[in-house]
Amino acid sequence: MRYITLGKTGLTISRIGFGGIPIQKIDAAGTRKLFLQMKAAGINFVDTARGYTVSESYIGEAIDGMRGDFVLATKSMSRDKAGMAKDIDTSLANLRTDYIDLYQVHNPNMAQLEQVIGEGGALEALIEAKAAGKIRHIGLTAHSLEVFEKALSLDWVETIMFPYNIVETQGEELMRKCTEKNIGFIAMKPLAGGALDDAALAMRFIANNPDVTVVIPGMAEEREIEQNISAVCDTTSLTAEENAKIEQIRNTLGTQFCRRCNYCAPCTVGINISSVFLFDGYLTRYDLSGWAKERYGAMEKKASDCIGCGICETRCPYNLPIRQMLKNAAERFDK
Ligand code: SF4
Ligand code: SF4
Repeated sequence: MRYITLGKTGLTISRIGFGGIPIQKIDAAGTRKLFLQMKAAGINFVDTARGYTVSESYIGEAIDGMRGDFVLATKSMSRDKAGMAKDIDTSLANLRTDYIDLYQVHNPNMAQLEQVIGEGGALEALIEAKAAGKIRHIGLTAHSLEVFEKALSLDWVETIMFPYNIVETQGEELMRKCTEKNIGFIAMKPLAGGALDDAALAMRFIANNPDVTVVIPGMAEEREIEQNISAVCDTTSLTAEENAKIEQIRNTLGTQFCRRCNYCAPCTVGINISSVFLFDGYLTRYDLSGWAKERYGAMEKKASDCIGCGICETRCPYNLPIRQMLKNAAERFDK
């Protein structure tokens, strides 16, 4: 395993961490098995969120007797002081610990960030919790470059989490600034929300950028841990063949694709927007049309049910033209 210092936090962490979203699909016993495997392999950085339903509590159960072997990071969407204070206490209880190594402000937009740092904002609770030893460091996660840039100017921000992968390189310039300012950079969405299917290449691409402190793929299976470790720990440069494949992926995917973050939900008429785009991706890119059509066919609300209200588009951090994309998907599925 390769280890690195997480920016100004001074924490020593493995270059590959554990993204806590997918364990929502398994159970506490399965999570414990994964954590035993991670401990044996030397992975010590774990990221989760208050918003990932059972993820914090599964992790809390999984690290029983192993708390000292892991660096725990979690995050909250609370923007005011009272809400953040309550969330920190809930996270501590769920994670069954008396301290959390890194507590992050979860994906604020610019207006919400102002609220966080303003009077009575969430930052006051984070600073108090830090002084009380409940949390040790404070970070922030973002999806927009505007928020990323602003975060770089805030002296309480010790780490920044932002999407980074083969097709989402828009943060690279600001990532370099993280290195200059000794802010830890945590790369999320290494597979672009499931749009990239070559996980080994995706990890190699990220690990080859020295501005990435740690990458946190979501992992729910033992073989994923093994595969990701070997890709991240391979210190050789990308080959000409790998670079050609990266170019080909970029040409195929472009930038207008869904990352499955679900910030657009809920849809006014109940369409599961990210699932429509997932099945559409399998239909168009991965030659799995039978599977995709079957799954799409089972959806209660179809892409064609969209009434065009546009509310989802105001919530999408990637400014995707969701209405048009749904129209295109509906045409392809209805063929
Ligand atoms: S524009 Fe369509 S998909 Fe978006 S919220 Fe409205 S009905 Fe749902
Ligand atoms: S449409 Fe936008 S907000 Fe909705 S899941 Fe996809 S990327 Fe996220």
